[in-house]
Amino acid sequence: MKSTFNLILLLIVPVLWNCMFIQWCINTRDDAPLSQVQIPESTIAFLDSLGSRLMGDDDHLILRWVDSLDVDSWNNRNDYGQDSLYVYEADSLFIIYSDRDDKELMEKVRQYACNAVRPLEQLMGHYVYPSELNGRKLPLYLCSDTDNYQKVCCELAGDDDYSKTWGLCIYSYSGVDVQTRGITLNYGSMRKLSMSPEVDLNATIWHEMNHYVYFQSIDLSTELWMHTWLYEGLAEYFSSQIKKQTTALSSQEKSAADRNHLNSSFTPFMFNYSGGEIFYDYLEEAYGKDGVSRFVQGIYDKPVPEVLKMFDSDVSLAERGWRNYIKENYI
Ligand SMILES: [Zn+2]
Repeated sequence: MKSTFNLILLLIVPVLWNCMFIQWCINTRDDAPLSQVQIPESTIAFLDSLGSRLMGDDDHLILRWVDSLDVDSWNNRNDYGQDSLYVYEADSLFIIYSDRDDKELMEKVRQYACNAVRPLEQLMGHYVYPSELNGRKLPLYLCSDTDNYQKVCCELAGDDDYSKTWGLCIYSYSGVDVQTRGITLNYGSMRKLSMSPEVDLNATIWHEMNHYVYFQSIDLSTELWMHTWLYEGLAEYFSSQIKKQTTALSSQEKSAADRNHLNSSFTPFMFNYSGGEIFYDYLEEAYGKDGVSRFVQGIYDKPVPEVLKMFDSDVSLAERGWRNYIKENYI
């Protein structure tokens, strides 16, 4: 009798469990995926705003939501550039796609990118190698023609006007994984507008690669400070090893220094670049290069106020230090 009861129980429990599971699936079919639910609202709002923002003239980053990042999406063989552009693949880290069959220029771009790896490891605490991204190499899209640049950006990031930008770092975001689709480079525009286009090409690659490491490293499931100055300033601070943009400040930037606060993004928008870079200059003066690196590694998974505690500081103290640094060096 007992064994019959056990047998019935054995048959009924899985059926019941299945019924409950199916009912749960029906009830929750319109809910956001669980992985997405765990992401703080503030982070989701920030990521949404990235997807729709096009403001800087020199560069910006674009993050696109996707439903999922399946195995095939990581494979470079499926990159847009494979069928549409010239492909140059000479190492294990990068793939260069170009609108011109110019091996010399493509090799130069590869060198600029390779040279950034060690300095990125020093500042960011690590570099993001393909082995951490399902084998995906970082694609660099080099466009010597502005119309081609516009076309490539639309293919990777969706239709918009990208012609005024010099570089973009474009990501797909599934709620679980971040995948860098590629860095685009508007070399046609640099040649038209810059006195030293190759230096600007190099600096733009370093700036965008800094975004690559930062956005592949942050823990989006935690509550982070996502203010624009924090990552644009960091990218500028890093690329200033190639070309320093903040040798002087305009009168507009000088007045911006007085009214902006660290606990929000800066206005005007371009002050996020210069004011942000100067914040890292200030950190370096106060705590050394090693201190800047510790700060950066802290903001991967902690909000800035918490990271500043490691330096026996807080937001108002850091803000005072940053403002004084600007007064002493720029005003
Ligand atoms: Zn940027």
